[in-house]
Amino acid sequence: MACTVFTIANQKGGVGKTTTAVNLAAGLAEKKIPTLLVDLDPQANATSAIGVEKQDGRSLYNPLRGEGTALEMITATSTERLSLIPSEEDLGALEIELAGTENYLGRLRAALAPVRASGQFRAIVIDCPPSMGMLSMNSLSAADHLIIALQCEYMALEGLGQILRNLDRIKNAVNSDLSLGGVVMTMFDMRTNLSRQVVEEVKKHLPDQIFKTVIPRTVRLSEAPSFGKTIFAYDPTSPGSTAYRHLAKEVIERFGLAAR
Ligand code: ATP
Ligand code: MG
Repeated sequence: MACTVFTIANQKGGVGKTTTAVNLAAGLAEKKIPTLLVDLDPQANATSAIGVEKQDGRSLYNPLRGEGTALEMITATSTERLSLIPSEEDLGALEIELAGTENYLGRLRAALAPVRASGQFRAIVIDCPPSMGMLSMNSLSAADHLIIALQCEYMALEGLGQILRNLDRIKNAVNSDLSLGGVVMTMFDMRTNLSRQVVEEVKKHLPDQIFKTVIPRTVRLSEAPSFGKTIFAYDPTSPGSTAYRHLAKEVIERFGLAAR
């Protein structure tokens, strides 16, 4: 089974990366796509959001140092067809431990190679920390497509240039397969003109990349993680569920996930 790797990144904090990674991955799984969510953020928000207990030694920390394999770290979740590689705080130490070591930007790509080859998954979704450090750069090296989560807020486009420059850097240096897969607008507030203006602005800059699906700001989406549940398990008929279902459908169509 061909396996497509998506990384959800933005060095800006709190823009909806984790919410999107978790619910996009769950949305793909709901649409019968065997999916692996990889938590690459030492904060481990995706791990707790999906209801998996953090556990010492259960993350990519060792595999990225060349000890053990990523395959051993795969953990089941309560969502059918959705697995997780959890995170733990130690992952953050890699920023320093691996800096300047051999192939340090290609560590995640190498660690995920046997997972891709195992044929267990049709999609891998990586949740990144809010920085463009070693971990996020590794995710760009490992991915086929970068999906940028952008919050509908003033100055949303600020920082976009930096992500796109990093994309080019990795594409030229280590991963010529990498492309900008899409931009997903998050926390859209229907009551404000600002949200609409921000979406229009991004549409102007990236007309082909912006997803048609816009994620609304809703309390249900912010509540679900505290119950360790995806939006589909927490409130399957809520507007947040509908939005992430649409996003998953768009991703499946845009990248031909169902066809192969
Ligand atoms: P970090 O940079 O810290 O990793 P992040 O980019 O992963 O943050 P999230 O954790 O997904 O962002 O979201 C930040 C906060 O906003 C969280 O409390 C989350 O529950 C809330 N949130 C995210 N998306 C929505 C939404 N569509 N509606 C309402 N709240 C949301
Ligand atoms: Mg996050």
